Amino acid sequence: MSKEFNAFEMAQSQFDAVADKLELDEGIRELLRWPLREFHFLIPVHMDDGTVKVFHGYRVQHNDARGPAKGGIRFHPQETVDTVRALATWMTWKCAVVDIPLGGGKGGVICNPHSLSAREQEQICRGWIRQVARNIGPLQDVPAPDVMTNPQHMVWMLDEYEKMTGAHYPGMITGKPVEVGGSLGRTEATGFGVIYTVREALKRAGVPIKGVRASIQGFGNVAQYAAKLFIEYGGSVVAVSCWDNDDHAAYSFLKPDGIDIDFLLSITDRFGTIDKDKAKAAGYVIADPESWIEQEAEILIPAALENQINGDNVDKIKNTVKMVAEGANGPTTPEADEALKARGIFVIPDFLCNAGGVTCSYFEQVQCNQNFFWPKDEVLKRLDEQMTQAFHAVADLAEETGEYMRDAAYMISIQRVAVACHLRGWA
Ligand code: GLU
Repeated sequence: MSKEFNAFEMAQSQFDAVADKLELDEGIRELLRWPLREFHFLIPVHMDDGTVKVFHGYRVQHNDARGPAKGGIRFHPQETVDTVRALATWMTWKCAVVDIPLGGGKGGVICNPHSLSAREQEQICRGWIRQVARNIGPLQDVPAPDVMTNPQHMVWMLDEYEKMTGAHYPGMITGKPVEVGGSLGRTEATGFGVIYTVREALKRAGVPIKGVRASIQGFGNVAQYAAKLFIEYGGSVVAVSCWDNDDHAAYSFLKPDGIDIDFLLSITDRFGTIDKDKAKAAGYVIADPESWIEQEAEILIPAALENQINGDNVDKIKNTVKMVAEGANGPTTPEADEALKARGIFVIPDFLCNAGGVTCSYFEQVQCNQNFFWPKDEVLKRLDEQMTQAFHAVADLAEETGEYMRDAAYMISIQRVAVACHLRGWA
């Protein structure tokens, strides 16, 4: 990640450009440019070796005019408060574009879970909750998993919250294991949601999905399920990539005739790291981390971190590429956006493309509130409907107005949030 990149500045500049187009008043503009509330705190942990290590934790609530703040918690060694602010802001737009009654929030801890024992991770989760328990909850702010956090982390957090409050609040956190109030389909939801939007975009373009090639960055939860459904629909995935903690390096795994997803999953650990030797023996080419971007494919799916398609590498994108579907949050910088626009590449913007996760989190909350759980096919059917509807609303607006897809999505979201703020008398 280049030094100058600041995700929050990027989120603000995207917002500013659309606020200008919408001619938003100064007051509402200022309100939406910044998070409403932020919590920065320390989490001291007694490590397995007997020392005490102090971790930095965050929760940022960007806006809750449409409902309780909602968004994941990331564990990442390079986490910064500005990354969390950006991600919280994008959550506001994400919940608004799919029209669920939630606001935007995000949390983080600066840590590397790869080098922490399960007990140490549990202490971080419980410590995180102890520091913000008064400011989160099912009616205030509802956390969820994100980069390097998983259902086990969520259930430790739930347990700590319920210990503190002395009651059951299964709707205080989502992405829980199904055995403890989670929703069927939540694990698949983000990756599947990405592909529902890709499927609809191909339909609008009149291109059958069969034989279409996608190159995917990442092999975590989002990338794995996106690859799975894309292949199920008849597409082929020509590359994925992953981080290898032993080497402190990332690699692309290339397979021009299409990956075998079940095989790759069988040689992948719980952090999404693929065994290079086994992959090589099966005919995969192990290449530079950025190789995924320069593959001959029709679709690029960045499904890892922010700032992955930028001014330095956007020109490496082959002419075969007609679409970028942003599974990650903030993968494309404004500079790269301009280049994609100029080349006429169709972009499904992050906060629309990857909204399947939070949409299913919303369903999880609804099910928890009812204390009645739906079968998986019902969850996925509702998810598909919500994503499909949101995608076409944005694509219709983009078509009618000639706006770039990202700007059209922003226009819908900003207007929805601004109306809620106005109605509440905030601005
Ligand atoms: N972390 C996911 C996202 O960025 C899901 C958030 C949620 O389920 O609340 O959208």
